[in-house]
Amino acid sequence: MERRFGLVTGALAGILLAGSGWLFLHQWAAYADAERALANLRIFRAVLLAMEKVSAERGPGNAALGEDLPIPSARLATLQAFRGESDARIADLLGELAAADCTPCRAERAAVLVAQADLVRARATIDSLLRQPRARRSSASLYHAIDGMVRVIPRFVSIADAAAASVDEGAPGILGRLLAARLAAVLREQAGLLGSQLAPALAAHRPLGEAEQYAIERTRGTIDQLRGLLQPRVLNDPALAHGTFQRMESQYFDEGLAYIEQLRVLASAPAGTGVTTAELTQHYVPLMASIVAFRDEILDLAQAQVQRWRDTRLAWLAAIGAALSAVIATFFLSARLFRRQVVQPFAEATRDIRAIAAGQFTAVAPAQHYSGEIRELFEAVQVLQEHSSERARLEQERHRLIEELTVQAERDALTGLLNRGAFERQAAPACAQAGRAGRMLALTLFDVDYFKRINDTYGHAAGDRVLVRIARLCREVWQADEIVARVGGEEFAVLAFVPGRREAVAQAQALRERLGHAGMQADNGEGIAIRASFGLAFAAAGEAAWLEDLMKRADRQLYRAKDAGRDGIAVEDEPGAGTAGSAPVA
Ligand code: GH3
Ligand code: MG
Ligand code: MG
Repeated sequence: MERRFGLVTGALAGILLAGSGWLFLHQWAAYADAERALANLRIFRAVLLAMEKVSAERGPGNAALGEDLPIPSARLATLQAFRGESDARIADLLGELAAADCTPCRAERAAVLVAQADLVRARATIDSLLRQPRARRSSASLYHAIDGMVRVIPRFVSIADAAAASVDEGAPGILGRLLAARLAAVLREQAGLLGSQLAPALAAHRPLGEAEQYAIERTRGTIDQLRGLLQPRVLNDPALAHGTFQRMESQYFDEGLAYIEQLRVLASAPAGTGVTTAELTQHYVPLMASIVAFRDEILDLAQAQVQRWRDTRLAWLAAIGAALSAVIATFFLSARLFRRQVVQPFAEATRDIRAIAAGQFTAVAPAQHYSGEIRELFEAVQVLQEHSSERARLEQERHRLIEELTVQAERDALTGLLNRGAFERQAAPACAQAGRAGRMLALTLFDVDYFKRINDTYGHAAGDRVLVRIARLCREVWQADEIVARVGGEEFAVLAFVPGRREAVAQAQALRERLGHAGMQADNGEGIAIRASFGLAFAAAGEAAWLEDLMKRADRQLYRAKDAGRDGIAVEDEPGAGTAGSAPVA
């Protein structure tokens, strides 16, 4: 039972641990995903910031390109400061990617390095133009320099898209806000581009060319498209609808675009406009800040949302961990308790009952150690043990009494020798076996001479003592395995296997002599002479014999000894010795 309980408990524990492990690992994976989503969101933000700064770098770039040689140092200093700013953001982005240390991050890092290399090349193109006098900077070369900077941006957009997808994997439902932030970032880029597209004409103090007009129209179209994409998102996400969005609407879409439109109209005139690129930067760039503010607000909201998601996952992980620990602990405690309070006591009770059945009355576990049904069980086992032990004691007593009765039935009470019945029961089979035993069988019968006289002279008690003494002397002469019995009042019989007649006679003679020297005294101090007459009959080795026949023959010899004057031994003739039936009495 204990073994089976162990197996069942082990199997259940296995299932419970496997299930709990799976559930916990599942929760752990969800938490780890949320943690990764947080890291990817940091990357996403870093990409958008780097992209913004690279985009912003075009402003002072354009401003410097608008100046003739020598380019004012303040312009160059501003350009350097902006470039430093982009480099710092790109370094931050690379740092975030290294910290996240994820497989997709490695591909993103490679993409950032490519973008960085593009940026270096684009800056080199601008720098080479800045070393030439303004008159030598053709529209085509200016366009090419600005386009080099613009082309860096899509590289960042694709990195941002990859990061956004990774965030959404770990924190579902965040993609809407990430797309809104991305749209705001692209809007900032297009807004910058719009400014840049006016720059070459302003720098050269000439009217906008047809291609430039077309490009500006296209960028305007893109900006309108982005606005159209952003508006429904903001409407669906009430958290975005206020504050920074409204400010972007009024500062950029109203004021900023109106300013650009105004410049475009002026720059369409044949003489161009007197507005410099520096003035454009000074007026237009601050208006674009509202787009960045809006983008940052979305990023902050997204960050808070992912953080909340991650905290919830962590809380769930902790709660499930605690609940599983509690369930596992409860299971093991219950199993232990059940084992100790039910299974073990049952096994112990079973052992006790088995021991009782086998007649071993070892100590039964005290019932007061237990309670309820188990206590009742042990009380019942105790009662059973008491009853069984009492029954065993009675059984033993019965066996002892039976043995005593058997002895009493077999033995003569006075001398302790076998009685006549027992003698016949034991001697008869010995006679039957005599033929096969290969040894001679001798039956010696002897009767105390004038015993009546001893009784009469010294009293019946003295007679009894004589009989007891005779029995003791018999035990000295004959071995324990020889059958010695008191077959009558003062008559004894001995059946013994002997090597030959002579040895049997010698034994009878030995007893006769011992009787003669018994030296018994009566109460009055007189010596009691004990004598007896002996009759011996034999069955030769290999000859079948019957007790009845042997007894008759030995009895005949005993009478012969009595007739011959007592105190003698009469022995049956050896077959074929000539004289019929008896040898002379010794
Ligand atoms: P004999 O030499 O012819 O055998 O003479 P006897 O006196 O021994 O023979 P008898 O048959 O006349 O007497 C036997 C006596 O043995 C009679 C009886 O009272 C006595 N006797 C028998 N059993 C007991 C006994 O258990 N105790 C005592 N004290 N005497 C017994
Ligand atoms: Mg007699
Ligand atoms: Mg007698």
